[in-house]
Amino acid sequence: MWLIECPSFWDEGLIRPLVTENGAVVLMCDTCSVVWHTPAGIEEFEHVEPAAPDWSIGPGTHVRPGTTRWADPADVTTAGWGDLRWRELPYAG
Ligand SMILES: [Zn+2]
Repeated sequence: MWLIECPSFWDEGLIRPLVTENGAVVLMCDTCSVVWHTPAGIEEFEHVEPAAPDWSIGPGTHVRPGTTRWADPADVTTAGWGDLRWRELPYAG
C-alpha cells in the first residue's frame, strides 16, 4: 500500500507506511528512502534523511536496514491513519 508519490523532483518513488524496530509507524519513499513522521509532514516538507551508520529518524527510532518492514492495513489503522486514501501498489511487495 502507498499514499502519494514522492515530492522529490529527482525520483518517482511511492511513499509507503513502514514499521520500525520499536514499533513506530512512519512513511518512507520506496526510492529515495526519505522518511516522514506523519502524513501532514509530507506537504510541509518535514522529512528526515536517514543515513549510515545509525539510520536515525529521531530519538530512539531508526530505520537501519533489516530492522524494518512495510506496514499493512492493521498497522496504519493502529497509527490512526486508517482513513487516509491508501492505494494498491503497482507491483508485488
Ligand atoms: Zn523519494
